[in-house]
Amino acid sequence: PAATQPLIIVGTGLAGYHLAREWRKLDPDSPLLMITHDDGAFYSKPLISTGFAKGQTPEQMVTSSAHTMAEQLRAEILTHTTVEQIDPHARTVTANGTDYRYQQLVLALGSEAMAPPLTGTGLDRVYTVNDLTDFRHFHRAIAPHRRLLIIGAGLIGSEYANDLAHTERDIQVVDPLPSALGSLMPAAVGNAVQRSLERRGVRYHLGTVVQSLAATADGVTATLANGTNIDADIVMSAIGVRPRTALAQAAGIAVGRGIKTDRWLRTSAPNIYALGDCAEVAGYNLLYVMPLMHAARALAPTLAGQPTAVHYPSMPVMVKTTLCPTVVCPVPPSLEGQWQIEQDGEEHVQALFYDRQNQLRGFALCGRFLREKDRLNRQLGALLE
Ligand code: FAD
Repeated sequence: PAATQPLIIVGTGLAGYHLAREWRKLDPDSPLLMITHDDGAFYSKPLISTGFAKGQTPEQMVTSSAHTMAEQLRAEILTHTTVEQIDPHARTVTANGTDYRYQQLVLALGSEAMAPPLTGTGLDRVYTVNDLTDFRHFHRAIAPHRRLLIIGAGLIGSEYANDLAHTERDIQVVDPLPSALGSLMPAAVGNAVQRSLERRGVRYHLGTVVQSLAATADGVTATLANGTNIDADIVMSAIGVRPRTALAQAAGIAVGRGIKTDRWLRTSAPNIYALGDCAEVAGYNLLYVMPLMHAARALAPTLAGQPTAVHYPSMPVMVKTTLCPTVVCPVPPSLEGQWQIEQDGEEHVQALFYDRQNQLRGFALCGRFLREKDRLNRQLGALLE
């Protein structure tokens, strides 16, 4: 009989590694091949935006090397290897000119940072930080510098502004929305975060965009749409991420915002599954850790022969702006309804989103209202029963 083909997991981020662990608990013997574009180190990605305040280097964030992971998981892990093609009919993936056959294939490709639409001679000073490799580059580049411009006041831009504010740097943040964290929560809560960072010296330019970056002798000058010029040594772009769908799309697999799957994490192609940032699970493309953990817990038994639907409870996200800790349970996009705000001074804000049927559908909390999190979360109920 033909030798059993391995389970192939492409991607060794939290999604790929969590799935591998869960699956190994159920199937100790079948072969597992993991393929990753990066070095395969295991790390917790949320920590990369809290390292400066803790004085933690990128290397200290690595919990296990690819070698250790391969031993623990009894897997073969191909690092620095990019999958270029999937052939669902032949059941192969191609990397570096070699075809690898799979029994079942899992795409855990993550998302990539969007490039800011900028012009000018200073673009080589712009960094994006979406994974540990990026963070290593940024960490090295910023070390000798004081003046940082952050493009984007969303989750990642705000967390880095908060983190680097602990290092006595001169930080300026630009965002087209009128308030910080504006795509996740109403202004009342975003303003609380903004004020607490401003008290640490961070300067905000909201309701405008960076149009161009001109190289100068010692850095760049950014020109904003509102006419302001900002001098900086180095620039971080944090304008958002986009699920990696191109590989799947080229193989004829259905994609929407992410690689489309049903509740069993099955893509439109037989024996091919997806989870994590790259996946759009039953209509939800959620770029957070909790959803991928739930997905891994369902997909592992499915791969082991016991089809299991993913269950998503309500999953609030902690915004790690430690100067003003905030929790948000984002409102599903395009849901109609309104925010109800309760506020006690600038620091204590509760924002509750009610839909047209007067059902609670999302919230954002900071200050003393943080303690309402669990109660509100129970009220919200599951995202996918
Ligand atoms: P990734 O970790 O991006 O892994 C993708 C993997 O795929 C990588 O190994 C890559 O090398 C590989 N790959 C991609 N394409 C190929 C290819 N063609 N061939 C081979 N390999 C390939 N979420 C929270 O819930 N809470 C937080 O506090 C939080 N903070 C965050 C802070 C920052 C700074 C960032 C950037 C994200 C944060 N997130 C947070 C989001 C969370 O970290 C991600 O949702 C999660 O880590 C995604 O994991 P993943 O495995 O899907 O993707």
